[in-house]
Amino acid sequence: MKKNVGTIALLAACGLGVAIGTTIRQWPPQILQAKASPAMAPQAPPNDGKLNIIVFGAHPDDAEYRGAGVAMKWAKAGHHVKFVSATNGDIGHWQSAGGPLAQRRLQEVQEVARRMGVTVEVLDIHDGEIMPTLENRKIITKLIRQWNADIVIANRPNDYHPDHRYTSILVQDSAFMVTVPFFVQDVAPLKKNPLFLYASDGFQRPNPFRADIAVGIDEVMEPTLDALLVMESQIHEGGANGYAGLMPDDAAGKQRRRDEVRKSLARRYAAGANQYRDALAKFYGPEKAKSIKYAQGFEICEYGRRPNQAELKQMFPF
Ligand SMILES: [Zn+2]
Repeated sequence: MKKNVGTIALLAACGLGVAIGTTIRQWPPQILQAKASPAMAPQAPPNDGKLNIIVFGAHPDDAEYRGAGVAMKWAKAGHHVKFVSATNGDIGHWQSAGGPLAQRRLQEVQEVARRMGVTVEVLDIHDGEIMPTLENRKIITKLIRQWNADIVIANRPNDYHPDHRYTSILVQDSAFMVTVPFFVQDVAPLKKNPLFLYASDGFQRPNPFRADIAVGIDEVMEPTLDALLVMESQIHEGGANGYAGLMPDDAAGKQRRRDEVRKSLARRYAAGANQYRDALAKFYGPEKAKSIKYAQGFEICEYGRRPNQAELKQMFPF
């Protein structure tokens, strides 16, 4: 299937395809990898007064695109950021699937995390098969509690991929429940409901995304792109909708493809700056907001903490 290069970088996130190869399903889902490297933050971050941020995505690349430059900015300031993939991504390629693909994608997101200075965890749930069950709600609730999260980020629940929809529902269903003492009693409840945020998207129904917060990421754009472009199985090879020849075999062709996807990805964050200029102005003032080239926007979920503008500035101290 031919696709224009501009859309591939945006749509390559997700798994659709034919499962082949070995299965790695375990029940209950096991953590494939708790940490990106021993040097990174442990599963429970230190109680050092820094912010704890957890970003959920359905597949091994979704949290990375949504965390991106903002995650790197938090991490550079010493805050503790964790990316979680709710599925193992084992059908997210047009040519390969199963355990080998899950392992390849795990290695890719580990390297992204290493470059961004964040922690990553991939749940061993099959790509294309996550459901909004009570068991999964408990898993997501525990992850948020274990991270002692101040901020939780996920996609909105109206999204084109069922795994995206149900991951978002599971995160929504964990809002408030993370504070309830007698729900999931083996991990202590949070004392405060975190700020739950939706990452931006272009879906219009039932309601379009609204940027309550926008963060300029110009100063980390290049290292963020360097990190995201590590996910070659998705971004260069096209993920589940790729095809033979998309990533050429020769060195010059490979470089051409890498340059194309880098520009395409940069355009995505540049579009954010243009679309969320009003929200940028609220945070940075109108003059500085005009000069921002790359940005990410977030919408506040009504089910979490509802911070005022002063509190938001503490949570986005950039
Ligand atoms: Zn996805």
